[in-house]
Amino acid sequence: MSQIRIVRRQLDFLPPTGIYLTNKKGRKLVKPSWDAVVQYRSRDGHFAIGPVRIINDADSRDDMEQYTFPHPDVDLHRHLGTTVKDSPAEFYEVVKTFVDEYGDFFAGDVRDIVPTWTLREWRSEWIVLREWALKVEAALKSDDSSQLNMLRQQFNRETRDPDIAFPIPEKFKLYTSAEVVSTRGAKFDTGIRVNGFAGWCWALVVRDLFHGVQYNQCSNHKSVNNPNGCRREVPSITPFGKSGKQMKHCSNRCRKASSRREEPNNG
Ligand SMILES: [Zn+2]
Repeated sequence: MSQIRIVRRQLDFLPPTGIYLTNKKGRKLVKPSWDAVVQYRSRDGHFAIGPVRIINDADSRDDMEQYTFPHPDVDLHRHLGTTVKDSPAEFYEVVKTFVDEYGDFFAGDVRDIVPTWTLREWRSEWIVLREWALKVEAALKSDDSSQLNMLRQQFNRETRDPDIAFPIPEKFKLYTSAEVVSTRGAKFDTGIRVNGFAGWCWALVVRDLFHGVQYNQCSNHKSVNNPNGCRREVPSITPFGKSGKQMKHCSNRCRKASSRREEPNNG
């Protein structure tokens, strides 16, 4: 079976230097509300700043085209929905942390956009993502394959029930594009190019659906013996192309923590 390759290019991701809220007319807000628009600071200065957060991670890198962020991201489509809050002020803090760790959710590169996404839209996008990620997981785990076949057929528009909401194809189309990538040995492959984390997340949902990807706890998962452990997940197949190597750790941090815990003379 050929792999669904998700392509992230460094140039598509440029984080902002700061975040603030405005109303729809662009006036700065002091108090967060659900209708507040998430805006970014110093967009023009980004050429000088560059994508400082990007690092190499040998575990999740498959070839030279790929890179990863220092924070766990292969389970973002399942994880973000668990971080939402019920008050705009609390949720704004969550969004600030996200922007600090990753950048903009919808566009990736904040230089060329005028953000229009409200806190309400950020929240509902993350909830819908998780909802569909879990629906795909339930269909994959079900003994009855008709559920899974129906989801795949709906995605490919082989069948469609206009009365049932099915956002995956529309979101996928909105946030991703097709890409031809060079691989080792002067060969080529096709891939899904994502230009932001919305694209990344919806591409992961589609990959789960067609690849039957399963998720396990990170090697450094939280437990009685490891109370400061991690709550993130890792997929059974890496998103970055051809490697069949299974991921064990959600991040370099957890990889190091796990190897420390495995050393018998330590602690
Ligand atoms: Zn972890």
